[in-house]
Amino acid sequence: MEERLIYLDNNATTKIDERVLEAMMPYFKQEYANPSSMYNFSKKSSNAIKEARGKVKDFLNAKDEKEIIFTSCGSESANTAIRGFLNYNDKTKKHIITSAVEHPCVLNVYRNLEKQGYKVDYIGVNSNGEINLEELKDKVKQDTALVSIMWANNETGILNPIEKISDIVKTKNPDTKLFVDGVQAAGKVPIDVQSANVDMLGISGHKFHAPKGIGALYINSKTMITPLIIGGHQERGKRAGTENTPYIVGIGKAAELACDNLQYEMTEVKRLRDKLESGIVKSIYNARVNTGAAQRVPNTTNIGFEYIEGELILLHLSDLGICASSGSACTSGSLEPSHVLRAMNVPFTAIHGSIRWSLSRFTTESEIDYVLEKLPQVIESIAKISPYQKELAQLKSLRA
Ligand code: PLP
Repeated sequence: MEERLIYLDNNATTKIDERVLEAMMPYFKQEYANPSSMYNFSKKSSNAIKEARGKVKDFLNAKDEKEIIFTSCGSESANTAIRGFLNYNDKTKKHIITSAVEHPCVLNVYRNLEKQGYKVDYIGVNSNGEINLEELKDKVKQDTALVSIMWANNETGILNPIEKISDIVKTKNPDTKLFVDGVQAAGKVPIDVQSANVDMLGISGHKFHAPKGIGALYINSKTMITPLIIGGHQERGKRAGTENTPYIVGIGKAAELACDNLQYEMTEVKRLRDKLESGIVKSIYNARVNTGAAQRVPNTTNIGFEYIEGELILLHLSDLGICASSGSACTSGSLEPSHVLRAMNVPFTAIHGSIRWSLSRFTTESEIDYVLEKLPQVIESIAKISPYQKELAQLKSLRA
């Protein structure tokens, strides 16, 4: 076992930025006042929350900081937006739309709503993972209350054309609301909720170098929700509970840093991702990029290694100190390929051997070089024990 750690699983979570932690520390120690209290001691906490809200507002280019509420995570943001809006809305509108490749925090809410009597359409994707816009156009009807489409996919990094999607939805039915799961886009590509014309958008701090346990939800001033958590008047009555001051300060600082680093993400992180991707495809004959040439966030690549098992690759990489993740989730003892890759019709030969690599601004060139040096041997050793020797030999001669 090697001591080194090469962390290429930044779509799962990210390392907290030291500057974020530093900004949070006073609110764990001396500035512990309840921000809603009347005395002067609470002013620093309430001002810090106001400042953080302003930073998240700028990060998303919202019009007003009143449109930002703090939550505990991306999942809570999605649940609050979807359920909160439907609970408030006209109950006769029973049709809702999402895509087949959403994160479970949206998909499972929709499945649950289906059981409660909502009619749901799940929009499909093409083999690159891109949403079928014609299908979306066709499905939006007069009784469509809500459409939920993610900005970027967590497994493939595929970017959806949100502005175009909003245009399609609003042209078909101006009353239909659009919720966007922005969790994997935040900090990787510019987000502008006004120009994209979205009604609600969720983000999660731990995906852009804030700690786990803090998220935010943008709700534009024309959209009303019924809160999921009822109690005190915090977050303008949209989410009760004493504010988590240190974590709110943390997501605010992380949002500010994400704005500062966006250009770096889109150039340098992308360069390293492209180097990793092209290096793998060049040196490993059974590797294929699962997304083709479609538009993606700059940090992600999803690569299928044909005729071998992803879990085995991950175990070998883990022994080398390399963290990546598999497109497969282990469910009830059987290895089920991911719903995203299945919706894309990734061939059977590659779906079980698909690995997601996700970089961050902390990824270095020497880390990428190390992966490119070690991975061919890892794949070769696993291919040797694959039951598909004939197919692998054919592939090798085909791509030689
Ligand atoms: N949405 C997407 C696209 C995600 O990738 C994730 C987390 O992986 C979430 C939502 C949920 O975020 P959280 O873990 O903060 O609940």
